[in-house]
Amino acid sequence: MKNDIEKILFDESKILKKVQDLGLRISEDYKAKNPVLICILRGSVIFLSDLMKNISVPLEIDFFSLSSYGASTKSSGIVKIRKDIDTEITGRHVIVVEDIVDSGLTLKYIEEYLSKHNPSSIKICALLDKPKAHKTEIKIHYKGFEIGNEFVVGYGLDFAEKYRNLPYIGILKKEIYS
Ligand code: 5GP
Repeated sequence: MKNDIEKILFDESKILKKVQDLGLRISEDYKAKNPVLICILRGSVIFLSDLMKNISVPLEIDFFSLSSYGASTKSSGIVKIRKDIDTEITGRHVIVVEDIVDSGLTLKYIEEYLSKHNPSSIKICALLDKPKAHKTEIKIHYKGFEIGNEFVVGYGLDFAEKYRNLPYIGILKKEIYS
């Protein structure tokens, strides 16, 4: 897999440091709020598991899944629910945990969908953001790193279901997907 990576953007220690910072901020902001962390499958699973270990207040987790890019690096557009949340989030403080924001359309959809359940609050925690790719206004309350419009894999992120288990985040060589 390593031969398919053009450049490592963030190694394990850099990611962990950032996740610890995010966990600290969330712990400060959610004292006595018992937040529900909603992990967007599948790319966010490693991020969720590292993040929750670094949050010191009680919390709950749940999972939500939408149709994905498939074996493509371009957004297929919105969207079909594959797995809905099981938690009753009415009156709860929700934090959506997302691997990467590209156009922002996925998160916009998720925010609007979850809002219908009348939670007390919804905030977004995203490890990676491609600000130049946004196609809608989206507020990321807890953000890890900003990157350019390159296609990245590793640390949960895939291309055609591969590379998720790389411990770092790297740019995938163009010849792999073009
Ligand atoms: P958006 O709706 O913001 O355009 O797309 C968000 C979703 O697209 C992410 O949750 C992720 O699944 C996928 N995605 C966007 N950019 C990348 C990327 O650079 N690498 C990978 N592996 N997935 C991406």
